[in-house]
Order: sequence, then C-alpha cells, then structure tokens
Amino acid sequence: MIIMNSSEIIEKLLNNEIKLYEVEKYISSSQNSSKATDIRRKFIEKISKTELSHIASYSIDMEEAEKKNIENSIGTIQIPIGIAGPLKINGKYANDEFYIPLATSEGALVASVNRGASAITASGGVNVEVIDDKMTRAPVLKTDSATEAIAIKKWLEDNFSKLKEIAESTTNHGKLLKIDPILIVGNYVYPRFVYSTGDSMGMNMVTIATEKVLELLSNERNFHVLALSGNVCVDKKPSSINLIEGRGKTIVADIVIPKEIIETKLKTTAKAIEEVNIGKNLLGSAVSGSMGFNAHYANMIGAIFLATGQDDAHIVEGSLGITTAEDRNGDLYFSVNMPDLPIATVGGGTSLETAKESLEILGVAGSGNAKKFAEIVIATVLAGELSLIGALAAGHLARAHKDLGRA
Ligand code: NAP
Repeated sequence: MIIMNSSEIIEKLLNNEIKLYEVEKYISSSQNSSKATDIRRKFIEKISKTELSHIASYSIDMEEAEKKNIENSIGTIQIPIGIAGPLKINGKYANDEFYIPLATSEGALVASVNRGASAITASGGVNVEVIDDKMTRAPVLKTDSATEAIAIKKWLEDNFSKLKEIAESTTNHGKLLKIDPILIVGNYVYPRFVYSTGDSMGMNMVTIATEKVLELLSNERNFHVLALSGNVCVDKKPSSINLIEGRGKTIVADIVIPKEIIETKLKTTAKAIEEVNIGKNLLGSAVSGSMGFNAHYANMIGAIFLATGQDDAHIVEGSLGITTAEDRNGDLYFSVNMPDLPIATVGGGTSLETAKESLEILGVAGSGNAKKFAEIVIATVLAGELSLIGALAAGHLARAHKDLGRA
C-alpha cells in the first residue's frame, strides 16, 4: 500500500479517488488513528467550508474508540456535564448518598433533579429494587407453512437444554434463561431468546449466542432466517411486550415524603401532586395513547446515558414506565416503575474515558456493578420526576425555565 502525506490523502478524498473509511490504509502504521481522524476532519472542513476547531479538541484515545465504538471518526462532541446531589438511596446494591453526573444542554434539568434529590435525602432516602434482569433477541424465521412453524416452536421447546449449552458456549457471562414467547404468524416464527448478560448491556453478546443456536436449529428444521432481529426483541423501539415482559433491568423505586418537606422544598402539597399525576401522567397519557405514563423519565435517563457511555438509542426504552402518587394524610407516597432499562457498566461505550470517569463518580465502573448502577438510575429518575410534578403542582414550571433556561 502506498503511504501518502495528509495533503495528498485529502486531495484524493476531494477527487473521490478514495473513501473515508480507507484513510487508515494510506497512513504509516506507526501513525495512530487520531492522524486519520484529523485527515477526515480536514477534508470535511474543506467541503463544508467550516472550521471544526471544537470537534477537533478531545482527550479520549481515538485509536481505542475506533476499535469498537466509532467508524470514520472526525473528533468528538462536547456536552456540558453537571452534578445533582447528594441523593440518598436505600438499595440492596446502592446504599449511600450519591452525586449524579448528568450530561445535557437542557437548562433547568440538573437544577430540577438536584431539588428532587434534596427532598428525597431530607426524607431519609429513596427505596429501590431491581425486580428482573435480562436481555432479549428475537429473530424472524420463515418457513413453508403454519404446520412447520409450529413444529419449529415445539423443537425449540423440547431441546432447550441443548440450545442453552450451545448459546452459552459463545460467552463467559451470558446465560440463556428461556425462549419465551415463541410467536407464530402464519409461516413466520419469532422465538424471543431471553438471556442474563452480567454487567454488560448484552446486545452483541445475545446476538452472537442466538446466531449459534440458529445454526443448530437449521440442521434439524427447514426455514430461512429472514433477520436476526425480527422486531419482537424489541430493541430501541417502544413496545407493549417490553412493558409487560420487561427488558434490560426492570426496576421499582418508591418513597414517602413528609408533609413539611413537600411544603418547604417543593412549595406544594401531596394532594396537588396526586392530582397532577392523575390528570397528566395517567389520564393524559391514556387519552393520547402514550406508552410512557410519566412526566419525563427520558430526561434523566438521557443525561445519565450520555455521561456514562450507554447506548443512547435505548433512552426510548427507558422512557416507558408509570409514575404513581398518593396523598397519605398530607404526606406523599410517590413511585416510579421502569420495566425496560438496558444499561451496562462493562462493554459498549462504558470504557470511553469520559464515560468511565462518570461511572467512577458513582462507584460503578467495571464488573459487579450493573445492578447498583440500575438502582442509582431509577433513584435519579424519581428525583427528576418528583421535582417536575412538584413544579407543575406549584405552578412555577414556566418561571423556572425562564430564569434558568433563558438566562
Ligand atoms: P460488548 O462490548 O460487545 O461485549 C461485552 C463484553 O464484556 C463481552 O465480551 C463479555 O465477555 C465481556 N465481559 C467482561 N466482564 C463482563 C461482565 N462482568 N459481565 C458481562 N460481560 C463481561 O457489549 P454487549 O453488552 O454485548 O453489547 C453492547 C454493544 O452492542 C453496544 O456497543 C451497543 O451499542 C451494541 N448494540 C449491538 C446490537 C446488535 O444487534 N449486535 C444492537 C444494539 C446495540 P463474554 O461474552 O465472554 O462473557
């Protein structure tokens, strides 16, 4: 391969003689990926007639990132990161006060979560529990008839132990828990493979394992794999099956906030919060056909996901869930329920340097920490949800946004 200097490579890119993904091939092996990153960025600067000095400024190891996190890199973006806390959590895994890193450009979000955290901590902390923990992959198989589709379903059910062994031969941490449900539509079959994936989010892991199982199945039955994901998983889309069956971490959090704390910190009453929750989160969501019976789970999940290197497309799944609120003689019982939160402390984007630092702030970087992380995420979601519903109940939402978001 001919080695060229940067200007020559940019010239070739401009003349469409080489592709963006081929740049690495033309630089010397002693030069690292940041060199290719620079070349691609300079090419984009030229064709867009824009100076990309901020995208050019970064400290992460682009060579490592290029191995599994990004292709055709040109630099990084920067999103401000703020801290909310202390947030007291009474969990099985997260049992302490935490400072939560939130990456966002929405003014007022961190302040709002911080206010919720303050009310929670003053009330003795939020109770959190991981109810279920799994990751799913459901391919779509096409065969000749409904009769053969049913035979495939039966074969999968009858040979589960063999399939489990094959699936688990591809991973040290993944476990095939069940294949359920196995849906049939005429001559199409959708087996939903359900795994536990340790501290990783697990999508690559379960895809590799499921592919191996299908190889074995193809020796026994007659079908085509139309797609390894047949949209019954359901990955990165809101869905009823994930709401009911759960996906990723299924978590619940609740708290009783004493009357005086609602009055002093949230400037409202339990009755007003209960009413807003019924009218907005329950009835409003029902009448609009929404799948998220909540005010803004996606805000907190998005900000934590960006800070900690999660797969941000999973924010859409995390946004599913129901908030409840009850006036108990002036005190407030408040809960958030999240059936579908895919998260990780290992794998994916969690090893990017800024993500790792954010996970370290929470004490959850690396193996053995995914459930603790899940408990922290839902506690943060409750803090933000409580604060927003409280603000709506107190009627001062518009003022907070004016003061903090339009400064
Ligand atoms: P991954 O980074 O591909 O794999 C995680 C790795 O961590 C595995 O090799 C696993 O080894 C290892 N590991 C070490 N310690 C572990 C522990 N304590 N618990 C669990 N695993 C441990 O990550 P992934 O979670 O499977 O997949 C996430 C990535 O998939 C993200 O980048 C996401 O964006 C992407 N994604 C892929 C698809 C897809 O269809 N393929 C869909 C959506 C997202 P062993 O396997 O040997 O145990």
